[in-house]
Amino acid sequence: MKKTKTTLRTTLGELTREQVGFILPHEHVFVDLRPMDVPGFGEADASDVKQLMVPYIEEAKAKGVSMMVDCGPLGVGRRVDIIKAVSKAAKLPIMVPTGIYREPWVPKWVYGASEMEIAEWMTRELTEGIENTGVKAGFIKLSAGDSGITDIERKILKAACISAKLVNAVIGSHTIHGEVVRNQLDIIEEMGYKADRFIWIHTHLERNFDIHLEMLRRGAWIEYDGISWEDDERFIELILKVINAGYIDQLLLSQDNGWYSPKTGLASKVRGYTYLGDIFIPKLKAAGVDEASIIKLTQINPFNAFAR
Ligand SMILES: [Zn+2]
Repeated sequence: MKKTKTTLRTTLGELTREQVGFILPHEHVFVDLRPMDVPGFGEADASDVKQLMVPYIEEAKAKGVSMMVDCGPLGVGRRVDIIKAVSKAAKLPIMVPTGIYREPWVPKWVYGASEMEIAEWMTRELTEGIENTGVKAGFIKLSAGDSGITDIERKILKAACISAKLVNAVIGSHTIHGEVVRNQLDIIEEMGYKADRFIWIHTHLERNFDIHLEMLRRGAWIEYDGISWEDDERFIELILKVINAGYIDQLLLSQDNGWYSPKTGLASKVRGYTYLGDIFIPKLKAAGVDEASIIKLTQINPFNAFAR
């Protein structure tokens, strides 16, 4: 049987494991968190976004970042055309998702669409490309309400399972509470998809570490992606607990930093992408994490999570 290599789908094409090193699995280049009916929602000149964001991405690249994932799905002003322009200018590949955010950031058409119609749209974006950019989605990003998954969010998740199964895409969910993520993984398994193709985004926001462990035991990826936003010591403690429990292979680290916002334009306050490599990783090494483990956490794991 012919063995095909898994690759990352990015703005600059497909990349094999040999072509990438340090990966940031959760950052943002362009986000609009305003209500979708606000005039000018999701609108900006690509030249402005480039002017503001390219220097930050070039800085990350100069410090060794080889690829980053922009985690903005439909609903938060996703502009793959703009991200592609920024990526080309900075010469850094960026992965973008298909998928839909949570209520109230769900576009109107999604309410009227069937599970299968949403799945077909996702599959088109994963396999053919997004809008007319020629960029294929690298994964499926979605979310669920903080106090429980709503009907529409459940429909989006089921659609994601149908689509992801076809191409072995990973599904990542912005989920703040452990009880909600538990329900989401139940739904994924009921749909016949698997825990090891699911990323619990923002795991660190759940204060109960037992639920982190529970999701790891079930086989899911967990993501501590708030590095630079909270105490480094807390993250180091969490990471050491995961390693000591034997789950280093299921852990992702990122910063959730960026981004250009159409509301503030060129005056957007950008948080750069270099804290993890410059400040945090040296501290993690000082806490006793060896080089091989650092390579797992920053290179091998993110490749394995997103490659298909
Ligand atoms: Zn984010």
